[in-house]
Amino acid sequence: MTNSLKEKLAQTLQGEVSDDVDVIKEASRDTSLFTRTPTLVVFPKNTDDVVELVKEVRTSKSSDNNVSITARAGGTDMSGGPLTTSIVVSFTKHMNDVVEVGDSYAVTEPGVYYRDFEKETLKKGLILPSYPASREICAMGGIVANNSGGERTLEYGKTERYVDELDVVLSDGSTATLKALSQDELAEKKTLETLEGDIYRKMDALLTENADEIESHKPKVSKNSAGYALWNIKDKNTGMFNLAKLICGSQGTLGMWTRAKLSLVKPKEHRAMLVIFLSDINVLPEIVKRVLVQKPESFESYDDNTFTLAVKFMPEMLKQMGLVKAAKLGIDFIPEALAVATGGVPKMLLMAEFAENSIEEADKKAQAAKESLSDLHLHTKIEKNEKESEKYWIVRRESFSLLRKNLHGLYASPFIDDFVVPPEVYPEFLPKLYTLLAQYKDHFIYTIAGHVGNGNFHIIPLMNISKPENRKIILELAPKVYDLVISYGGTTTGEHNDGIIRTPYIAKLFGEKMSELFTETKNIFDPENIFNPGKKVGGTFADIEHDMVKEN
Ligand SMILES: Cc1cc2nc3c(=O)[nH]c(=O)nc-3n(C[C@H](O)[C@H](O)[C@H](O)COP(=O)(O)OP(=O)(O)OC[C@H]3O[C@@H](n4cnc5c(N)ncnc54)[C@H](O)[C@@H]3O)c2cc1C
Repeated sequence: MTNSLKEKLAQTLQGEVSDDVDVIKEASRDTSLFTRTPTLVVFPKNTDDVVELVKEVRTSKSSDNNVSITARAGGTDMSGGPLTTSIVVSFTKHMNDVVEVGDSYAVTEPGVYYRDFEKETLKKGLILPSYPASREICAMGGIVANNSGGERTLEYGKTERYVDELDVVLSDGSTATLKALSQDELAEKKTLETLEGDIYRKMDALLTENADEIESHKPKVSKNSAGYALWNIKDKNTGMFNLAKLICGSQGTLGMWTRAKLSLVKPKEHRAMLVIFLSDINVLPEIVKRVLVQKPESFESYDDNTFTLAVKFMPEMLKQMGLVKAAKLGIDFIPEALAVATGGVPKMLLMAEFAENSIEEADKKAQAAKESLSDLHLHTKIEKNEKESEKYWIVRRESFSLLRKNLHGLYASPFIDDFVVPPEVYPEFLPKLYTLLAQYKDHFIYTIAGHVGNGNFHIIPLMNISKPENRKIILELAPKVYDLVISYGGTTTGEHNDGIIRTPYIAKLFGEKMSELFTETKNIFDPENIFNPGKKVGGTFADIEHDMVKEN
Protein backbone atom coordinates (compact mmCIF):
# COMPACT_ATOMS: atom_id res chain seq x y z
CA MET A 1 0.00 0.00 0.00
CA THR A 2 1.27 3.47 -0.81
CA ASN A 3 1.96 5.97 1.93
CA SER A 4 -0.24 8.35 0.00
CA LEU A 5 -3.37 6.35 0.90
CA LYS A 6 -2.47 6.60 4.57
CA GLU A 7 -1.93 10.34 4.24
CA LYS A 8 -5.10 10.80 2.25
CA LEU A 9 -7.11 8.92 4.87
CA ALA A 10 -5.49 10.85 7.72
CA GLN A 11 -6.53 14.10 6.02
CA THR A 12 -10.03 13.01 5.08
CA LEU A 13 -11.24 11.07 8.12
CA GLN A 14 -12.35 12.48 11.46
CA GLY A 15 -11.15 9.35 13.25
CA GLU A 16 -7.56 8.10 13.55
CA VAL A 17 -5.45 6.18 11.04
CA SER A 18 -2.63 4.19 12.58
CA ASP A 19 0.30 2.01 11.59
CA ASP A 20 1.75 2.04 15.08
CA VAL A 21 3.47 -1.28 15.80
CA ASP A 22 1.34 -2.17 18.84
CA VAL A 23 -1.91 -1.23 17.12
CA ILE A 24 -1.00 -3.33 14.09
CA LYS A 25 0.06 -6.23 16.31
CA GLU A 26 -3.22 -6.25 18.19
CA ALA A 27 -5.21 -6.21 14.96
CA SER A 28 -3.17 -9.09 13.56
CA ARG A 29 -4.81 -11.67 15.83
CA ASP A 30 -8.27 -12.85 16.84
CA THR A 31 -8.87 -16.09 18.76
CA SER A 32 -8.42 -18.30 15.70
CA LEU A 33 -5.42 -20.32 14.55
CA PHE A 34 -4.34 -17.49 12.27
CA THR A 35 -2.39 -14.31 12.05
CA ARG A 36 -2.43 -11.65 9.32
CA THR A 37 -0.59 -8.37 9.67
CA PRO A 38 -2.59 -5.39 8.42
CA THR A 39 -0.93 -2.33 6.89
CA LEU A 40 -3.26 0.17 8.57
CA VAL A 41 -5.87 0.31 11.29
CA VAL A 42 -8.58 2.95 10.92
CA PHE A 43 -10.80 4.03 13.83
CA PRO A 44 -13.84 5.68 12.21
CA LYS A 45 -15.67 8.36 14.19
CA ASN A 46 -18.94 7.84 12.36
CA THR A 47 -20.65 6.49 9.23
CA ASP A 48 -19.27 9.36 7.13
CA ASP A 49 -15.76 8.15 7.93
CA VAL A 50 -16.62 4.63 6.78
CA VAL A 51 -18.09 6.08 3.59
CA GLU A 52 -14.95 8.14 2.90
CA LEU A 53 -12.74 5.15 3.64
CA VAL A 54 -14.61 2.95 1.19
CA LYS A 55 -14.43 5.64 -1.49
CA GLU A 56 -10.69 6.15 -1.01
CA VAL A 57 -10.02 2.43 -1.09
CA ARG A 58 -12.06 2.09 -4.22
CA THR A 59 -10.01 4.79 -5.88
CA SER A 60 -6.75 3.17 -4.76
CA LYS A 61 -7.89 -0.16 -6.13
CA SER A 62 -6.96 0.94 -9.64
CA SER A 63 -3.29 1.27 -8.68
CA ASP A 64 -3.14 -1.44 -5.97
CA ASN A 65 -5.46 -4.38 -6.49
CA ASN A 66 -4.62 -5.85 -3.07
CA VAL A 67 -6.09 -3.03 -1.05
CA SER A 68 -9.24 -3.95 0.88
CA ILE A 69 -11.15 -3.27 4.13
CA THR A 70 -11.93 -5.69 6.92
CA ALA A 71 -14.18 -4.81 9.85
CA ARG A 72 -13.21 -5.54 13.43
CA ALA A 73 -15.35 -5.23 16.55
CA GLY A 74 -14.27 -7.18 19.66
CA GLY A 75 -11.72 -9.28 17.73
CA THR A 76 -12.83 -12.54 19.42
CA ASP A 77 -13.65 -14.40 16.20
CA MET A 78 -12.45 -18.03 16.18
CA SER A 79 -12.32 -18.40 12.39
CA GLY A 80 -9.96 -15.58 11.31
CA GLY A 81 -12.89 -13.37 10.18
CA PRO A 82 -11.41 -9.97 11.19
CA LEU A 83 -7.86 -10.69 9.92
CA THR A 84 -6.37 -9.07 6.83
CA THR A 85 -3.10 -7.98 5.27
CA SER A 86 -4.68 -4.69 4.20
CA ILE A 87 -6.85 -2.19 6.14
CA VAL A 88 -8.71 -2.96 9.39
CA VAL A 89 -11.69 -0.80 10.37
CA SER A 90 -11.93 -0.98 14.12
CA PHE A 91 -15.29 0.03 15.56
CA THR A 92 -14.94 -0.24 19.33
CA LYS A 93 -13.01 3.01 19.90
CA HIS A 94 -15.61 5.51 18.68
CA MET A 95 -18.67 3.87 17.16
CA ASN A 96 -19.79 2.45 20.46
CA ASP A 97 -23.13 4.04 21.30
CA VAL A 98 -26.35 2.32 22.17
CA VAL A 99 -28.46 4.87 20.35
CA GLU A 100 -31.87 3.90 21.71
CA VAL A 101 -33.61 1.20 23.70
CA GLY A 102 -37.34 1.01 22.94
CA ASP A 103 -40.01 -1.19 24.47
CA SER A 104 -39.07 -4.20 22.35
CA TYR A 105 -35.95 -3.21 20.42
CA ALA A 106 -32.57 -1.47 20.58
CA VAL A 107 -30.67 0.61 18.07
CA THR A 108 -26.92 0.20 18.35
CA GLU A 109 -23.59 0.94 16.72
CA PRO A 110 -21.24 -1.97 15.97
CA GLY A 111 -18.50 -1.07 18.45
CA VAL A 112 -20.59 -1.58 21.60
CA TYR A 113 -19.36 -4.48 23.71
CA TYR A 114 -22.18 -6.91 24.48
CA ARG A 115 -21.64 -6.45 28.23
CA ASP A 116 -22.36 -2.69 27.83
CA PHE A 117 -25.25 -3.26 25.42
CA GLU A 118 -26.94 -5.55 27.93
CA LYS A 119 -26.52 -3.04 30.76
CA GLU A 120 -28.61 -0.62 28.69
CA THR A 121 -31.24 -3.11 27.54
CA LEU A 122 -31.68 -4.49 31.06
CA LYS A 123 -32.80 -1.04 32.17
CA LYS A 124 -35.98 -1.96 30.30
CA GLY A 125 -35.86 -5.59 31.46
CA LEU A 126 -34.89 -6.77 27.95
CA ILE A 127 -32.01 -8.71 26.41
CA LEU A 128 -30.74 -9.92 23.04
CA PRO A 129 -31.06 -13.65 23.82
CA SER A 130 -28.62 -14.79 21.12
CA TYR A 131 -25.59 -13.46 23.01
CA PRO A 132 -22.55 -15.76 22.68
CA ALA A 133 -20.46 -17.37 25.44
CA SER A 134 -17.87 -14.65 24.72
CA ARG A 135 -20.40 -12.09 25.98
CA GLU A 136 -17.87 -10.32 28.22
CA ILE A 137 -15.34 -9.69 25.42
CA CYS A 138 -17.18 -9.52 22.09
CA ALA A 139 -19.08 -6.63 20.51
CA MET A 140 -22.25 -6.12 18.52
CA GLY A 141 -20.36 -5.85 15.19
CA GLY A 142 -19.30 -9.47 15.36
CA ILE A 143 -22.50 -10.75 16.95
CA VAL A 144 -24.44 -9.54 13.90
CA ALA A 145 -21.77 -10.29 11.28
CA ASN A 146 -21.19 -13.83 12.55
CA ASN A 147 -24.88 -14.50 13.22
CA SER A 148 -23.87 -15.52 16.72
CA GLY A 149 -25.76 -17.85 18.97
CA GLY A 150 -25.27 -19.02 22.49
CA GLU A 151 -26.63 -20.76 25.54
CA ARG A 152 -30.21 -19.52 25.03
CA THR A 153 -30.34 -20.24 21.29
CA LEU A 154 -32.12 -23.52 22.00
CA GLU A 155 -35.21 -21.56 23.03
CA TYR A 156 -34.70 -18.20 21.33
CA GLY A 157 -32.79 -18.88 18.10
CA LYS A 158 -29.78 -17.03 16.74
CA THR A 159 -29.07 -13.35 15.99
CA GLU A 160 -30.65 -13.63 12.50
CA ARG A 161 -34.05 -13.75 14.24
CA TYR A 162 -33.45 -10.38 15.95
CA VAL A 163 -31.85 -8.31 13.16
CA ASP A 164 -34.64 -6.06 11.87
CA GLU A 165 -32.75 -3.24 10.16
CA LEU A 166 -29.14 -2.52 9.26
CA ASP A 167 -27.59 0.69 7.98
CA VAL A 168 -24.88 -0.50 5.64
CA VAL A 169 -22.06 1.19 3.75
CA LEU A 170 -21.98 -0.48 0.34
CA SER A 171 -18.93 -1.17 -1.80
CA ASP A 172 -19.19 2.08 -3.81
CA GLY A 173 -19.36 4.16 -0.63
CA SER A 174 -23.13 4.71 -0.84
CA THR A 175 -25.31 3.90 2.16
CA ALA A 176 -28.53 1.94 2.45
CA THR A 177 -30.93 1.00 5.21
CA LEU A 178 -31.72 -2.66 4.70
CA LYS A 179 -34.99 -3.79 6.27
CA ALA A 180 -38.14 -5.80 5.57
CA LEU A 181 -39.82 -4.60 2.35
CA SER A 182 -43.26 -5.43 1.02
CA GLN A 183 -43.52 -6.49 -2.65
CA ASP A 184 -44.47 -2.91 -3.59
CA GLU A 185 -41.57 -1.44 -1.66
CA LEU A 186 -39.23 -3.96 -3.27
CA ALA A 187 -40.51 -3.02 -6.73
CA GLU A 188 -39.83 0.63 -5.89
CA LYS A 189 -36.27 -0.13 -4.74
CA LYS A 190 -35.64 -2.04 -7.96
CA THR A 191 -36.20 1.14 -9.97
CA LEU A 192 -33.28 2.95 -8.27
CA GLU A 193 -30.36 3.74 -10.57
CA THR A 194 -27.86 3.14 -7.79
CA LEU A 195 -25.83 0.22 -6.44
CA GLU A 196 -28.64 -0.36 -3.94
CA GLY A 197 -31.15 -0.63 -6.79
CA ASP A 198 -28.83 -2.95 -8.66
CA ILE A 199 -28.46 -5.17 -5.59
CA TYR A 200 -32.25 -5.45 -5.19
CA ARG A 201 -32.76 -6.23 -8.88
CA LYS A 202 -30.06 -8.86 -9.03
CA MET A 203 -30.69 -10.47 -5.65
CA ASP A 204 -34.42 -10.78 -6.31
CA ALA A 205 -33.66 -12.39 -9.68
CA LEU A 206 -31.08 -14.74 -8.16
CA LEU A 207 -33.52 -15.85 -5.46
CA THR A 208 -36.39 -16.31 -7.89
CA GLU A 209 -34.41 -18.19 -10.53
CA ASN A 210 -32.79 -20.52 -7.98
CA ALA A 211 -35.59 -20.83 -5.44
CA ASP A 212 -35.67 -24.66 -5.41
CA GLU A 213 -31.90 -25.04 -5.28
CA ILE A 214 -31.66 -22.59 -2.38
CA GLU A 215 -34.53 -24.10 -0.41
CA SER A 216 -33.22 -27.64 -0.79
CA HIS A 217 -29.78 -26.60 0.48
CA LYS A 218 -30.98 -24.75 3.53
CA PRO A 219 -29.22 -26.54 6.41
CA LYS A 220 -31.63 -28.86 8.21
CA VAL A 221 -30.05 -28.32 11.63
CA SER A 222 -31.30 -25.76 14.14
CA LYS A 223 -28.34 -23.40 13.70
CA ASN A 224 -25.99 -22.54 10.87
CA SER A 225 -23.46 -19.80 10.10
CA ALA A 226 -21.89 -21.39 6.99
CA GLY A 227 -22.27 -19.76 3.58
CA TYR A 228 -24.58 -16.85 2.83
CA ALA A 229 -28.08 -17.16 4.33
CA LEU A 230 -29.90 -16.85 0.99
CA TRP A 231 -32.83 -18.79 2.46
CA ASN A 232 -33.42 -16.06 5.10
CA ILE A 233 -34.11 -13.13 2.76
CA LYS A 234 -37.69 -13.84 1.70
CA ASP A 235 -40.10 -14.49 4.55
CA LYS A 236 -42.36 -17.31 3.39
CA ASN A 237 -45.15 -16.34 5.77
CA THR A 238 -45.26 -12.59 5.22
CA GLY A 239 -43.76 -12.30 1.73
CA MET A 240 -41.39 -9.59 3.03
CA PHE A 241 -37.93 -9.22 1.50
CA ASN A 242 -35.16 -8.31 3.96
CA LEU A 243 -31.50 -8.08 2.92
CA ALA A 244 -30.48 -7.32 6.53
CA LYS A 245 -31.03 -11.05 7.13
CA LEU A 246 -28.35 -11.78 4.51
CA ILE A 247 -25.85 -9.28 5.92
CA CYS A 248 -26.27 -11.04 9.27
CA GLY A 249 -23.72 -13.86 9.22
CA SER A 250 -21.86 -12.59 6.14
CA GLN A 251 -18.69 -11.70 8.11
CA GLY A 252 -18.33 -8.22 6.67
CA THR A 253 -17.87 -9.51 3.12
CA LEU A 254 -20.90 -7.72 1.59
CA GLY A 255 -20.85 -4.35 3.37
CA MET A 256 -19.98 -2.62 6.64
CA TRP A 257 -22.90 -2.17 8.99
CA THR A 258 -22.87 1.03 11.04
CA ARG A 259 -26.23 0.95 12.82
CA ALA A 260 -28.53 -1.95 13.70
CA LYS A 261 -32.07 -2.16 14.93
CA LEU A 262 -32.40 -5.39 16.87
CA SER A 263 -35.51 -6.77 18.50
CA LEU A 264 -35.17 -7.85 22.12
CA VAL A 265 -37.00 -10.19 24.46
CA LYS A 266 -38.01 -10.07 28.08
CA PRO A 267 -36.33 -13.11 29.63
CA LYS A 268 -38.21 -15.27 32.08
CA GLU A 269 -37.07 -14.46 35.57
CA HIS A 270 -36.63 -17.72 37.41
CA ARG A 271 -34.37 -20.65 36.61
CA ALA A 272 -33.73 -24.15 37.87
CA MET A 273 -30.87 -26.22 36.56
CA LEU A 274 -30.69 -29.99 36.27
CA VAL A 275 -27.02 -30.98 36.38
CA ILE A 276 -26.25 -34.46 35.07
CA PHE A 277 -22.89 -36.08 35.78
CA LEU A 278 -22.40 -38.59 33.03
CA SER A 279 -19.90 -41.42 33.23
CA ASP A 280 -21.11 -43.45 30.25
CA ILE A 281 -21.19 -41.35 27.12
CA ASN A 282 -23.31 -43.97 25.33
CA VAL A 283 -26.44 -42.90 27.17
CA LEU A 284 -26.06 -39.27 26.02
CA PRO A 285 -28.46 -39.58 23.05
CA GLU A 286 -31.20 -41.01 25.26
CA ILE A 287 -30.71 -38.30 27.88
CA VAL A 288 -30.88 -35.53 25.32
CA LYS A 289 -34.04 -36.98 23.81
CA ARG A 290 -35.81 -37.18 27.17
CA VAL A 291 -34.66 -33.83 28.59
CA LEU A 292 -35.65 -31.92 25.43
CA VAL A 293 -39.26 -33.02 26.00
CA GLN A 294 -39.36 -30.62 28.98
CA LYS A 295 -38.20 -27.73 26.74
CA PRO A 296 -35.17 -26.37 28.62
CA GLU A 297 -34.13 -22.80 27.83
CA SER A 298 -30.51 -23.99 27.63
CA PHE A 299 -28.98 -27.43 27.38
CA GLU A 300 -25.20 -27.23 27.55
CA SER A 301 -22.30 -29.56 28.21
CA TYR A 302 -18.61 -29.87 28.86
CA ASP A 303 -16.31 -32.84 29.19
CA ASP A 304 -13.89 -34.25 31.77
CA ASN A 305 -10.84 -32.48 30.29
CA THR A 306 -12.59 -29.12 30.52
CA PHE A 307 -13.74 -29.91 34.06
CA THR A 308 -10.27 -30.92 35.28
CA LEU A 309 -8.60 -27.88 33.71
CA ALA A 310 -11.26 -25.58 35.11
CA VAL A 311 -10.76 -26.85 38.66
CA LYS A 312 -6.99 -26.56 38.28
CA PHE A 313 -7.15 -22.99 37.02
CA MET A 314 -10.14 -21.79 39.03
CA PRO A 315 -8.23 -18.96 40.79
CA GLU A 316 -7.10 -17.55 37.40
CA MET A 317 -10.59 -17.96 36.01
CA LEU A 318 -12.18 -16.09 38.88
CA LYS A 319 -9.57 -13.37 38.47
CA GLN A 320 -10.42 -13.19 34.78
CA MET A 321 -14.08 -12.66 35.67
CA GLY A 322 -13.34 -10.03 38.25
CA LEU A 323 -12.84 -10.85 41.90
CA VAL A 324 -15.82 -8.82 43.01
CA LYS A 325 -18.27 -10.95 41.09
CA ALA A 326 -16.49 -14.12 42.20
CA ALA A 327 -16.57 -13.04 45.84
CA LYS A 328 -20.23 -12.08 45.55
CA LEU A 329 -21.06 -15.48 44.24
CA GLY A 330 -18.99 -17.11 47.00
CA ILE A 331 -18.26 -19.87 44.58
CA ASP A 332 -17.30 -23.11 46.22
CA PHE A 333 -15.40 -25.54 44.07
CA ILE A 334 -14.12 -27.73 46.90
CA PRO A 335 -16.38 -30.71 46.05
CA GLU A 336 -15.23 -30.55 42.42
CA ALA A 337 -11.57 -30.29 43.48
CA LEU A 338 -12.07 -33.41 45.58
CA ALA A 339 -13.57 -35.20 42.59
CA VAL A 340 -10.49 -34.33 40.54
CA ALA A 341 -8.15 -35.43 43.35
CA THR A 342 -9.90 -38.79 43.75
CA GLY A 343 -10.30 -39.46 40.03
CA GLY A 344 -14.08 -39.14 40.33
CA VAL A 345 -14.50 -36.74 37.42
CA PRO A 346 -17.57 -37.39 35.27
CA LYS A 347 -16.92 -38.05 31.57
CA MET A 348 -19.35 -35.30 30.71
CA LEU A 349 -21.33 -32.73 32.63
CA LEU A 350 -24.70 -31.69 31.24
CA MET A 351 -26.55 -28.55 32.31
CA ALA A 352 -30.24 -28.31 31.44
CA GLU A 353 -31.65 -24.99 32.61
CA PHE A 354 -35.39 -24.38 32.77
CA ALA A 355 -36.66 -20.79 32.80
CA GLU A 356 -40.15 -19.85 33.94
CA ASN A 357 -41.98 -16.98 35.55
CA SER A 358 -41.85 -18.53 39.02
CA ILE A 359 -39.22 -20.67 40.68
CA GLU A 360 -41.88 -23.31 41.42
CA GLU A 361 -42.66 -23.72 37.72
CA ALA A 362 -38.98 -23.85 36.78
CA ASP A 363 -38.29 -26.39 39.50
CA LYS A 364 -41.26 -28.49 38.40
CA LYS A 365 -39.79 -28.80 34.92
CA ALA A 366 -36.32 -29.64 36.24
CA GLN A 367 -37.88 -32.31 38.48
CA ALA A 368 -39.86 -33.73 35.56
CA ALA A 369 -36.68 -33.93 33.48
CA LYS A 370 -34.86 -35.60 36.37
CA GLU A 371 -37.64 -38.13 36.83
CA SER A 372 -37.71 -38.92 33.12
CA LEU A 373 -34.12 -40.15 33.54
CA SER A 374 -34.65 -42.18 36.71
CA ASP A 375 -34.35 -45.64 35.09
CA LEU A 376 -30.94 -44.66 33.68
CA HIS A 377 -29.47 -44.46 37.23
CA LEU A 378 -27.47 -41.29 36.70
CA HIS A 379 -25.91 -38.96 39.22
CA THR A 380 -27.99 -35.78 38.97
CA LYS A 381 -28.63 -32.66 41.02
CA ILE A 382 -31.03 -29.73 40.80
CA GLU A 383 -29.69 -26.21 41.46
CA LYS A 384 -32.25 -23.55 42.20
CA ASN A 385 -30.19 -20.48 42.98
CA GLU A 386 -27.79 -18.37 40.97
CA LYS A 387 -24.85 -19.00 43.26
CA GLU A 388 -24.99 -22.75 42.72
CA SER A 389 -25.68 -22.81 39.00
CA GLU A 390 -23.29 -19.96 38.22
CA LYS A 391 -20.21 -22.07 38.83
CA TYR A 392 -21.24 -24.47 36.08
CA TRP A 393 -21.90 -21.50 33.80
CA ILE A 394 -18.46 -20.03 34.53
CA VAL A 395 -16.74 -23.20 33.42
CA ARG A 396 -18.92 -23.50 30.34
CA ARG A 397 -18.53 -19.86 29.27
CA GLU A 398 -14.90 -19.39 30.18
CA SER A 399 -13.55 -22.75 29.07
CA PHE A 400 -12.06 -21.61 25.76
CA SER A 401 -10.49 -18.44 27.23
CA LEU A 402 -9.05 -20.60 29.96
CA LEU A 403 -7.52 -23.02 27.49
CA ARG A 404 -6.02 -20.21 25.46
CA LYS A 405 -4.31 -18.60 28.40
CA ASN A 406 -3.11 -21.39 30.58
CA LEU A 407 -1.66 -24.21 28.57
CA HIS A 408 1.99 -23.48 28.09
CA GLY A 409 3.41 -25.62 25.31
CA LEU A 410 -0.01 -26.51 23.94
CA TYR A 411 -2.13 -24.33 21.70
CA ALA A 412 -5.94 -24.30 21.84
CA SER A 413 -6.55 -24.89 18.14
CA PRO A 414 -10.03 -24.20 16.78
CA PHE A 415 -10.48 -26.08 13.49
CA ILE A 416 -13.32 -28.52 14.19
CA ASP A 417 -14.74 -26.17 16.79
CA ASP A 418 -18.32 -25.60 15.82
CA PHE A 419 -20.09 -28.29 13.76
CA VAL A 420 -23.75 -29.16 14.27
CA VAL A 421 -25.59 -32.43 13.76
CA PRO A 422 -29.26 -33.18 14.44
CA PRO A 423 -29.38 -34.53 18.04
CA GLU A 424 -31.36 -37.58 16.79
CA VAL A 425 -28.23 -38.91 15.07
CA TYR A 426 -26.06 -38.97 18.23
CA PRO A 427 -26.31 -42.78 18.70
CA GLU A 428 -24.66 -43.41 15.32
CA PHE A 429 -22.66 -40.24 14.91
CA LEU A 430 -20.88 -39.93 18.24
CA PRO A 431 -19.15 -43.35 18.28
CA LYS A 432 -17.85 -42.67 14.76
CA LEU A 433 -16.62 -39.24 15.78
CA TYR A 434 -14.82 -40.60 18.85
CA THR A 435 -13.18 -43.35 16.77
CA LEU A 436 -11.95 -40.75 14.32
CA LEU A 437 -10.56 -38.49 17.04
CA ALA A 438 -8.87 -41.45 18.75
CA GLN A 439 -6.77 -42.02 15.63
CA TYR A 440 -5.04 -38.71 16.38
CA LYS A 441 -4.44 -39.21 20.09
CA ASP A 442 -0.65 -39.02 19.66
CA HIS A 443 -0.96 -35.52 18.25
CA PHE A 444 -3.38 -33.81 20.62
CA ILE A 445 -5.71 -34.01 23.55
CA TYR A 446 -9.01 -32.24 23.20
CA THR A 447 -11.87 -30.74 25.14
CA ILE A 448 -15.51 -30.87 24.12
CA ALA A 449 -18.01 -28.30 25.28
CA GLY A 450 -21.09 -27.13 23.56
CA HIS A 451 -24.77 -26.79 23.06
CA VAL A 452 -25.75 -30.43 23.38
CA GLY A 453 -29.45 -29.61 22.98
CA ASN A 454 -28.80 -28.09 19.53
CA GLY A 455 -26.29 -30.73 18.45
CA ASN A 456 -23.60 -28.04 18.34
CA PHE A 457 -20.17 -29.28 19.50
CA HIS A 458 -17.13 -27.17 20.29
CA ILE A 459 -14.15 -29.51 20.03
CA ILE A 460 -10.90 -27.76 20.84
CA PRO A 461 -7.75 -29.79 20.19
CA LEU A 462 -4.82 -28.79 22.40
CA MET A 463 -1.63 -29.33 20.46
CA ASN A 464 1.94 -28.30 20.02
CA ILE A 465 1.41 -26.15 16.97
CA SER A 466 5.12 -25.47 16.50
CA LYS A 467 5.52 -29.03 15.14
CA PRO A 468 4.86 -29.22 11.38
CA GLU A 469 3.46 -32.76 11.73
CA ASN A 470 0.80 -31.45 14.11
CA ARG A 471 -0.11 -28.54 11.87
CA LYS A 472 -0.52 -31.05 9.05
CA ILE A 473 -3.24 -32.79 11.08
CA ILE A 474 -5.44 -29.71 10.80
CA LEU A 475 -5.92 -30.12 7.07
CA GLU A 476 -6.10 -33.90 7.36
CA LEU A 477 -8.63 -34.31 10.16
CA ALA A 478 -11.01 -31.42 9.45
CA PRO A 479 -12.29 -32.80 6.11
CA LYS A 480 -12.81 -36.23 7.70
CA VAL A 481 -14.86 -34.72 10.51
CA TYR A 482 -16.81 -32.57 8.06
CA ASP A 483 -17.51 -35.55 5.77
CA LEU A 484 -18.96 -37.35 8.76
CA VAL A 485 -20.95 -34.32 9.89
CA ILE A 486 -22.33 -33.74 6.37
CA SER A 487 -23.23 -37.41 5.96
CA TYR A 488 -25.49 -37.05 9.02
CA GLY A 489 -27.20 -33.91 7.70
CA GLY A 490 -25.11 -31.46 9.73
CA THR A 491 -23.29 -28.21 9.08
CA THR A 492 -19.63 -27.25 9.51
CA THR A 493 -20.40 -24.21 11.66
CA GLY A 494 -23.36 -23.38 13.87
CA GLU A 495 -22.20 -19.99 15.10
CA HIS A 496 -18.42 -19.32 14.75
CA ASN A 497 -18.72 -18.84 10.97
CA ASP A 498 -16.46 -19.66 8.00
CA GLY A 499 -13.56 -17.18 8.08
CA ILE A 500 -10.19 -18.45 6.94
CA ILE A 501 -10.58 -21.87 8.53
CA ARG A 502 -13.84 -23.02 6.89
CA THR A 503 -14.34 -21.02 3.69
CA PRO A 504 -12.57 -23.72 1.63
CA TYR A 505 -15.13 -26.31 2.91
CA ILE A 506 -18.18 -24.37 1.72
CA ALA A 507 -18.33 -26.26 -1.59
CA LYS A 508 -18.11 -29.60 0.28
CA LEU A 509 -21.04 -28.58 2.46
CA PHE A 510 -23.33 -26.92 -0.07
CA GLY A 511 -22.17 -28.28 -3.45
CA GLU A 512 -20.87 -26.50 -6.55
CA LYS A 513 -24.11 -24.85 -7.63
CA MET A 514 -24.71 -23.20 -4.26
CA SER A 515 -21.07 -22.10 -4.13
CA GLU A 516 -21.62 -20.40 -7.47
CA LEU A 517 -24.66 -18.62 -6.04
CA PHE A 518 -22.56 -17.46 -3.09
CA THR A 519 -19.92 -16.11 -5.50
CA GLU A 520 -22.64 -14.38 -7.49
CA THR A 521 -24.01 -12.83 -4.29
CA LYS A 522 -20.56 -11.54 -3.39
CA ASN A 523 -20.17 -10.08 -6.90
CA ILE A 524 -23.56 -8.39 -6.77
CA PHE A 525 -22.69 -6.57 -3.55
CA ASP A 526 -18.95 -6.16 -3.93
CA PRO A 527 -17.83 -6.58 -7.55
CA GLU A 528 -14.36 -5.20 -6.82
CA ASN A 529 -13.77 -7.43 -3.81
CA ILE A 530 -13.19 -4.54 -1.44
CA PHE A 531 -14.72 -6.11 1.68
CA ASN A 532 -12.89 -8.82 3.63
CA PRO A 533 -11.58 -10.84 0.65
CA GLY A 534 -11.03 -14.57 0.98
CA LYS A 535 -13.82 -15.09 3.53
CA LYS A 536 -17.00 -16.85 2.37
CA VAL A 537 -15.77 -16.72 -1.23
CA GLY A 538 -12.29 -17.28 -2.61
CA GLY A 539 -10.53 -18.63 0.50
CA THR A 540 -8.17 -21.55 -0.09
CA PHE A 541 -6.47 -24.40 1.76
CA ALA A 542 -3.19 -22.66 0.91
CA ASP A 543 -4.42 -19.65 2.96
CA ILE A 544 -4.94 -21.95 5.93
CA GLU A 545 -1.44 -23.39 5.66
CA HIS A 546 0.20 -20.06 5.01
CA ASP A 547 -1.45 -17.96 7.71
CA MET A 548 -1.58 -20.46 10.55
CA VAL A 549 0.38 -19.45 13.65
CA LYS A 550 3.52 -21.52 13.91
CA GLU A 551 4.33 -21.06 17.60
CA ASN A 552 2.44 -22.03 20.73
C1 LIG B 1 -14.26 -17.77 24.74
C2 LIG B 1 -15.05 -17.63 23.45
C3 LIG B 1 -16.33 -18.13 23.39
C4 LIG B 1 -17.08 -17.96 22.21
N1 LIG B 1 -18.37 -18.40 22.21
C5 LIG B 1 -19.15 -18.15 21.15
C6 LIG B 1 -20.52 -18.52 21.16
O1 LIG B 1 -21.05 -19.04 22.13
N2 LIG B 1 -21.26 -18.23 20.06
C7 LIG B 1 -20.74 -17.56 18.99
O2 LIG B 1 -21.49 -17.27 18.05
N3 LIG B 1 -19.45 -17.25 18.93
C8 LIG B 1 -18.64 -17.49 20.00
N4 LIG B 1 -17.33 -17.10 19.97
C9 LIG B 1 -16.80 -16.44 18.76
C10 LIG B 1 -16.95 -14.89 18.80
O3 LIG B 1 -16.69 -14.42 20.09
C11 LIG B 1 -18.35 -14.45 18.42
O4 LIG B 1 -18.70 -14.91 17.14
C12 LIG B 1 -18.57 -12.92 18.53
O5 LIG B 1 -19.89 -12.60 18.26
C13 LIG B 1 -17.65 -12.14 17.62
O6 LIG B 1 -17.79 -10.79 17.98
P1 LIG B 1 -16.57 -9.76 17.91
O7 LIG B 1 -17.13 -8.44 18.25
O8 LIG B 1 -15.44 -10.21 18.71
O9 LIG B 1 -16.26 -9.83 16.36
P2 LIG B 1 -14.90 -9.72 15.56
O10 LIG B 1 -14.02 -10.87 15.92
O11 LIG B 1 -14.33 -8.38 15.70
O12 LIG B 1 -15.44 -9.89 14.08
C14 LIG B 1 -16.16 -11.02 13.68
C15 LIG B 1 -16.56 -10.88 12.21
O13 LIG B 1 -17.50 -9.81 12.08
C16 LIG B 1 -17.08 -8.87 11.10
N5 LIG B 1 -17.55 -7.55 11.54
C17 LIG B 1 -17.35 -6.94 12.73
N6 LIG B 1 -17.94 -5.74 12.75
C18 LIG B 1 -18.56 -5.58 11.56
C19 LIG B 1 -19.32 -4.54 10.97
N7 LIG B 1 -19.60 -3.43 11.62
N8 LIG B 1 -19.78 -4.71 9.71
C20 LIG B 1 -19.51 -5.85 9.02
N9 LIG B 1 -18.79 -6.86 9.53
C21 LIG B 1 -18.32 -6.74 10.78
C22 LIG B 1 -15.56 -9.02 11.09
O14 LIG B 1 -15.00 -8.59 9.85
C23 LIG B 1 -15.40 -10.51 11.30
O15 LIG B 1 -15.50 -11.18 10.08
C24 LIG B 1 -16.53 -17.30 21.10
C25 LIG B 1 -15.21 -16.83 21.16
C26 LIG B 1 -14.49 -16.98 22.32
C27 LIG B 1 -13.09 -16.43 22.38
